[in-house]
Amino acid sequence: NRRIVLNSRPHGAPSPDNFRLDTTELPKPTDGQMLLRTVYLSLDPYMRGRMSDAPSYAAPVELGEVMVGGTVCQVEQSFHPEFAVGDWVLANTGWQDYAVSDGQGVIPLGRNLEHPARSLGVLGMPGFTAYMGLLDIGQPKPRETVVVAAATGAVGSAVGQIAKLKGCRVVGVAGGPKKCKAAVETFGFDACIDHYASDFDQQLADACSSGIDVYFESVGGKVFDAVLPLLNVKARIPVCGLIAHYNDTALPEGPDRLPLLMQTFLIRRIKAQGFIIFDDYGPRYGEFLAEMTEWVKSGKVKSIEDVVEGLENAPNAFIGLLEGKNFGKLAVHVG
Ligand code: NDP
Repeated sequence: NRRIVLNSRPHGAPSPDNFRLDTTELPKPTDGQMLLRTVYLSLDPYMRGRMSDAPSYAAPVELGEVMVGGTVCQVEQSFHPEFAVGDWVLANTGWQDYAVSDGQGVIPLGRNLEHPARSLGVLGMPGFTAYMGLLDIGQPKPRETVVVAAATGAVGSAVGQIAKLKGCRVVGVAGGPKKCKAAVETFGFDACIDHYASDFDQQLADACSSGIDVYFESVGGKVFDAVLPLLNVKARIPVCGLIAHYNDTALPEGPDRLPLLMQTFLIRRIKAQGFIIFDDYGPRYGEFLAEMTEWVKSGKVKSIEDVVEGLENAPNAFIGLLEGKNFGKLAVHVG
């Protein structure tokens, strides 16, 4: 059983030596348990938080422990009454080939699963995040302008497409021309602005000539700086993530812009709300999955999966995720 453990804690951006590949004996399930074989491992930005021991909403991974992560697995051996050999399941077995499970928190995915990696993306945690963050906190209304950061990513691509289904005008922000093209041509955004462009702020302002009613925040940094002056009265900001800051080791230099932020919020009566998807919305997973499954089946919501081959390549793929190297939902095909 190969597994990738946390070798050391990163200071700033993670590097390959923060991870270690080791091999253990195959774990043996006993009564009421099953052996799960990882087929796909999800790589997600929150894992950067788990590598750090700074206070957060979830406990850190301890040094020498297996990195946490959502997985799509097949049941390899079963002494569990509700799971049979060959069943597909959604689990949380982390960065390893095999794990024993007692079925707690394991979601059955049936006997035949055509697109396993989708259950880690549009039909899994990131899709759920997009759905609840946009609809419950963003409250988009027809003809409003919705701006989506990290627009071609697992969460952002779903946010933009749901906003289109709700009749909004949708403007994405993404890194580079290839991603911007996909946002418009594959995901149906009305426009998408490249945050690497030297006149990014101006381009965003031009694309949002009626201002911004909902800003789905996943990035922070210069993207938020460009959004702030464009926010309309009564704008809503689901604060989903701040990936541009996950590797920060201190607050940025420069003038204190907190007064500008609070003044804008006050004068324009802006509502910003953070959320942690399963903590805040766990009981509504079924509702999300039913509606999103219909949208995906009917082609109303599309997805791109960026699949990396081999567990041993997970660390570098994860490091790349924090640099924008992924194109779509990042997952590892373990075996
Ligand atoms: P993505 O698939 O969108 O991948 C991350 C993307 O973020 C990169 O491809 C890149 O896109 C962008 N990015 C990375 N670094 C930077 C940077 N320094 N500056 C600007 N953009 C950057 O990831 P997910 O869809 O899985 O997650 C998106 C966000 O949602 C993250 O912030 C994540 O933490 C958050 N999240 C929050 C949850 C919650 O419960 N609150 C649950 C799930 C996700 P580009 O090249 O286009 O810049």
